[in-house]
Amino acid sequence: MFEHFTAYAGDPILSLQLAYRDDPRPEKVNLSIGLYYDEQGRIPQLESVQQARKTVLASTEPSVYLPMSGNPAYCRAVQRLLFGENSPALSEGRVATIQTVGGSGALRVGADLLRRFFPDSQARISDPTWDNHRAILEGAGFVVQTYAYFDYEAQRLNFDAMAKELDQLPARTVVLMHPCCHNPTGADLSAAQWDVVVDIIKRRELLPFLDLAYQGLAEGLEADTYFIRALAASGASFLLANSFSKIFSLYGERCGALSMVCANAEEAQRVLGQMQQAVRRNYSSPPAFGGSLVQTVLDTPTLRAQWEAEVETMRVRMHTMRTRLYEGLVQHHPAYDWSFLLAQRGMFSYAPVLGPHMNRLIKEHAVYIIDSGRICVAGLNEQNVDRTAQAFATVLKA
Ligand code: PMP
Repeated sequence: MFEHFTAYAGDPILSLQLAYRDDPRPEKVNLSIGLYYDEQGRIPQLESVQQARKTVLASTEPSVYLPMSGNPAYCRAVQRLLFGENSPALSEGRVATIQTVGGSGALRVGADLLRRFFPDSQARISDPTWDNHRAILEGAGFVVQTYAYFDYEAQRLNFDAMAKELDQLPARTVVLMHPCCHNPTGADLSAAQWDVVVDIIKRRELLPFLDLAYQGLAEGLEADTYFIRALAASGASFLLANSFSKIFSLYGERCGALSMVCANAEEAQRVLGQMQQAVRRNYSSPPAFGGSLVQTVLDTPTLRAQWEAEVETMRVRMHTMRTRLYEGLVQHHPAYDWSFLLAQRGMFSYAPVLGPHMNRLIKEHAVYIIDSGRICVAGLNEQNVDRTAQAFATVLKA
């Protein structure tokens, strides 16, 4: 019956993760996967989340189904985190939010809805972007093309090319964007550049689909929402998928949300109904446990303050590691201009120049990167950063 099923090549990043796990060399360094590791190389258990876990586990309530749109208190807390405590869009009731199965689930539900209600639209993703963006949008039936984003020669954002291309797209083109910590490049837009993008979106009536998986890891929890809030204030309608996998270190609990910012409250109610229907015919309702952890942290002032400090610790550590990598590279390979690294933020650095050397880096130096040259800076620590810089310098000079 299933003879015609072709083999799935697997996800290259997840396959490298397995190769790393099985590598016996004690000095191995894993910069391949987008996971946050602490200075000791461990995936942390956040103290705020541990506290919330005690509260949630102490509950004797039976495990009933959540509504299709998830836990209402979770959705409200998420909205305030994303749009701000005093958001006019929230007080006007024009944001519809559902709890989703991680950020990926939010992207998929959003893509399904857009495909259904905008059957003539095409989708654009940045060149480059997280590989699953294309897979999810194509899976929902979209024809997917790219828009200019990164200058591979200069290894920097090419904003002029991006703005020019966005300004030529047909109305209602679905445009996928990263409000902060662009994956894979770590190259973000400035506030002034986002303002230009907001203007283009409004003028050309584009349909933005924002993907926020690293809030707080670029400049801070509030600062990283600049584009989201500017877009909401402009009156544009848009979708926003967000993930708590990294910033709560709750990868396996699959916590995320999908918000749709609408023209008014009445429209938001109708949109919410369609979001619920899209969930119902897919997985019916989201899992409850992880969402209650996140909601407990967000809504308990002491835990909230503790969590904000924990996210800040992650942000600062990654910033420090990027700087240390830069310094090591300047020391070991001074002839090369490494300044582009300092313009990058968040969990990733991107050095396409290293991509072709992936196999040597893994084989000869036990340094795992992926073939695009993306480096997860959270895999660096004081013990391995200098050796990593040396390995990069060695393969480049050879
Ligand atoms: N968007 C981006 C840009 C990501 O990097 C990731 C996680 N790698 C996701 C979405 C998906 O998040 P989740 O793991 O919560 O599904």
